[in-house]
Amino acid sequence: MRQLVIVGASLAGLRAAQAARTGGFDGDLVVVGEEVHRPYTRPPLSKELLAGEHEAERVVLPSDTFDAQWRLGVPAARLDRARRRVVLADGDELPYDRLILATGSRARRWPGPGGELEGVHVLRSLDDAIALRAALERRPRVAVVGAGFIGCEVAQTARKQGLDVTLIDIAPTPMLPLGPQLGEWCAALHSDHGVDLRLGTGVAALHGTGQVEAVELTDGTHVPADVVLVGMGALPNTEWLAGSGLQVTPGLQCDATLTAIGDPDILGAGDIVSWPHPLAGGDAIRIEHWTVAAEQGQHAGRNVLLPAQERKPYDQPPYFWSDQYDTKIQALGLPGRAERLELLEETEDGSRFVYGGERDGRLVGVIAINAARRLGSYRMALADPPDFADLRARLAADEKALGAPVRTV
Ligand SMILES: Cc1cc2nc3c(=O)[nH]c(=O)nc-3n(C[C@H](O)[C@H](O)[C@H](O)COP(=O)(O)OP(=O)(O)OC[C@H]3O[C@@H](n4cnc5c(N)ncnc54)[C@H](O)[C@@H]3O)c2cc1C
Repeated sequence: MRQLVIVGASLAGLRAAQAARTGGFDGDLVVVGEEVHRPYTRPPLSKELLAGEHEAERVVLPSDTFDAQWRLGVPAARLDRARRRVVLADGDELPYDRLILATGSRARRWPGPGGELEGVHVLRSLDDAIALRAALERRPRVAVVGAGFIGCEVAQTARKQGLDVTLIDIAPTPMLPLGPQLGEWCAALHSDHGVDLRLGTGVAALHGTGQVEAVELTDGTHVPADVVLVGMGALPNTEWLAGSGLQVTPGLQCDATLTAIGDPDILGAGDIVSWPHPLAGGDAIRIEHWTVAAEQGQHAGRNVLLPAQERKPYDQPPYFWSDQYDTKIQALGLPGRAERLELLEETEDGSRFVYGGERDGRLVGVIAINAARRLGSYRMALADPPDFADLRARLAADEKALGAPVRTV
């Protein structure tokens, strides 16, 4: 291999480039990015950067420690596998021997009436975050549409700044993958901090003349707002691969080694990838978590140097965190696939606890609230998922657990 092209100049693409160089690749390395920015990290965009605690320089990821050609500010428009070329939007063509696809995902926009009004924001990129931060500095009334993790984090950042915040979701609780009990807990966390929650209610339209003025809910009520953050999830950036013959719905379909199905010279990494995971019983999953993107980038950068039959599977349990007020929410494994979530351990004052997810009698994932030090043992457990009832019994006798007797909720 003499020519390696990586499409997507963010976390997964950067880690892939670094790993290929560290692994001894000394040919031509080109990294293509639609954004004009060098790679940066996104989690602070809804937290410290949005709050004004970090400036843009703090989110930049070091990317000048290895030799690469950076083609920034121009998206890849098409993949021509027959000629082994990535075709850029400016008409340039990049030949490749092997290719890593890491084009991530983008924020879903409000599709209904009013989406074009001034004051309606999404939050995915550094530019989005800078625009939203400037808007919050004008001390607006804020409505957040969608109580997923981005919506919840923006709500908490705006509340910490003393702004009026309404958090709207059609679901009955925020952060749906947390399940109903933890969802109730999360709702209480936000209402205790002064967020006006409108749950179980959809959005009918956004209203205003030029500038957004209100959000109309499906129950007919109007929520006055000068800024609306649409946090309705993300979509994988795979449209540019249409016509390439790769399977891209939903996400780029890869095997366990992150090699694209049907083309051993192409690998994927990060939010774009759908790959079979042992915790999902071998079903394909697509995950939008920072650590998965970083690890998969590194993994793809190593695997791309090997012939297909020598590549290693990527089978780490997915890990995710979210910071809301003084609370750290962490998830490990696939708690969203659990048939039920049960409290496994908690401190006596109830401020730190762990829920476990059970599926087919086994642990599939955990959600830890302010209980980071417990994650290591669950990570080990998930490598060979234990019987759920045995795990509960063991935890009850474990001195290293959080301290209180395990109780059933
Ligand atoms: C505001 C925010 C906060 C977050 N906070 C957390 C958190 O607290 N914890 C957590 O676990 N995860 C968090 N995440 C998720 C995490 O940041 C993502 O999982 C991670 O960024 C995925 O990395 P990626 O490289 O796969 O994709 P992305 O970061 O989406 O990068 C893909 C890049 O490819 C570019 N691109 C797209 N199409 C093309 C094309 N055709 N040609 C060239 N380039 C293209 C995009 O412009 C982008 O720069 C957060 C995400 C956001 C947006």
